[in-house]
Amino acid sequence: MSQPLVIYNTLSRAKELFEPIKPPFVGMYVCGPTVYSDVHLGNSRTFISFDMIYRYLLHIGYKVRYVRNITDAGHLEGDNDEGEDKFAKKAKLEQLEPMEIVQKYTLGFHEVLRIFNTLPPSIEPAATGHIVEQIEMIKEILAAGYAYETDGTVYFDVEKYSLEYPYGVLTNRKLEDLLEGTRELSGQDEKRGRLDFALWIKAKPETLMKWPSPWGWGFPGWHIECSAMSTKYLGTTFDIHGGGMDLQATHHTNEIAQSQACHHVEPVKYWVHTNMLTVNGARMSKTAGNGFLPKELFTGDHPLLERGYSPMTVRFFMAQSHYRSTLDFSNEALQAAEKGYKKLMESIQRISKIEPADSSSVNIDELRKNCYDAMNDDFNSPVLIAQLFEAVRIINSAVDKTETLTATDIEKLKALMQTFVFDVLGLTDESEANAGGDVINGLMNLILDIRKSARENKDWATSDKIRDELKAAGVEIKDTKDGVEWRV
Ligand SMILES: [Zn+2]
Repeated sequence: MSQPLVIYNTLSRAKELFEPIKPPFVGMYVCGPTVYSDVHLGNSRTFISFDMIYRYLLHIGYKVRYVRNITDAGHLEGDNDEGEDKFAKKAKLEQLEPMEIVQKYTLGFHEVLRIFNTLPPSIEPAATGHIVEQIEMIKEILAAGYAYETDGTVYFDVEKYSLEYPYGVLTNRKLEDLLEGTRELSGQDEKRGRLDFALWIKAKPETLMKWPSPWGWGFPGWHIECSAMSTKYLGTTFDIHGGGMDLQATHHTNEIAQSQACHHVEPVKYWVHTNMLTVNGARMSKTAGNGFLPKELFTGDHPLLERGYSPMTVRFFMAQSHYRSTLDFSNEALQAAEKGYKKLMESIQRISKIEPADSSSVNIDELRKNCYDAMNDDFNSPVLIAQLFEAVRIINSAVDKTETLTATDIEKLKALMQTFVFDVLGLTDESEANAGGDVINGLMNLILDIRKSARENKDWATSDKIRDELKAAGVEIKDTKDGVEWRV
C-alpha cells in the first residue's frame, strides 16, 4: 500500500491529507492568464504544474472538474485599482478592438499549452461572459454590508469585513501589518479604507469595455471574476484553488474576502501555489530583460540562450523541480535536462529488447510503490523522476543481462513507464514523432528513385504500377519540372 495523498495547503502552511468534499468528485479552480500579451514562461510553469496535478488526480480515479478562467476584462495595470485597463492600453498600441487583443492572445496561449502537451481544462470561462454573475455577487456583498458605492464605483470594505473574518489569513498577516504597507489616503480618494479594493469600477468617457450595472456604466474589478466564476461552476466551497505565488497577497486574499462576505463560508479547502522562475539565480522579469517567452526558449532566439530547447525538454526540466520550489533557468541546466529526457525516452524504447527470464533480480512492485509515494507526497515530481531513473537503470541492465526480469515484470515495467512518464508527467516522445517522419521520407525517396530508374529504362509498366499503387495507398505523386512531388 502506498501512502495516501497529502497536499501542502498555503492556508495552514502544512501538508494535509487530501479529502475531497464529495469524493470521487474534485473541484479545482486555477487562475488563468490575462490575455493582453504573450503568455510568459512563469505562467506556463504554473499551468504545466497544474496540468500534472490534474493528470495525477485523474489517474488515481478522481472525477475532476478543472476550471481555468480567461481574464479578458477588468485587469488594470496596477493590481490596486490604479492605472489603465491592460486591454484598452494594448488595443490603442496595436490599433485593434479590445476583443481582437483578447482573441489574438487567447489563441496564442492555447497554442503554447498545446505545444507543451497540457490537457484542456473542463471549463474555460471568460470574465466578459460572466458580467451578470459578477454584478449579482457585488449586489449580494453590498446587501450583506461589506461594500459601499461612491459615485458609480463599488468598493469592498476591508475593515468592516475584518471585524468578523480574518482578512489576510492566506499570507498569515494581520490587518495592522497590511495597513503599514499602504499609502495614506488623500482627500481625493473615494475609498474609505486604505485596503479597500474595487468590485465595480465606473467607466470613464474613453473606456472601451464597459457594461450597464445598477451603479451605471462600468466594468468589474479583477478579483470578483474568479469569485463569481468559481462559485458558478464549483459551488460556494470547493476542493482546490491554484495559481502562482504572486497572486496570494492581493488577488487570492481578496477572492477569499469576497466569497466569504457573500456566502459566509470558507470558499476553498486547499490553496495550492506554484513558485517563481529565476534565470541564472536572478528573478525572471520583463523589466530585468531576462524573461523569455516559450517560443524564444524553443528557437533559442534570446541573448541569454545559447540555443533552442524542445518543448518536451522544457517540460521535463520543469518537472525536475518541485512546483513549490523556485525553478532556475540556465543553459547548463537545460542541456542536462535534454540529456536526461533523451535517456528516459531511449530506455522506454529499449524495453522491447529485454529477453524475459525465469525470475526477476529486481522488485518492480516496490519501484511502482515508490513512484506513487513520490506523487502522493504533495506531487513530488523530482522524487518521482529519481525513481524513473532507477527504472532506466533496470531497463538498461536487463538488456545487458546484468539484471533479470520475468515476462510479467517486463509488462509491469512497461505499464509503469506509460503511466508516470506519459500519463502523469505529460511527456511525449519527440524522437518517435520525428523518426516516423524520417522513415516515411526515406521510404518515399526509395520508391521514387526506383520509379525514376524504371522511367529511364522506359519500363512504363513498373513506373505506372508504382504511381497507381501509391495512389491506392493514399499517396498522390506529381511530375514537375523540378522533379517529383508527393502528398498524402
Ligand atoms: Zn483569479
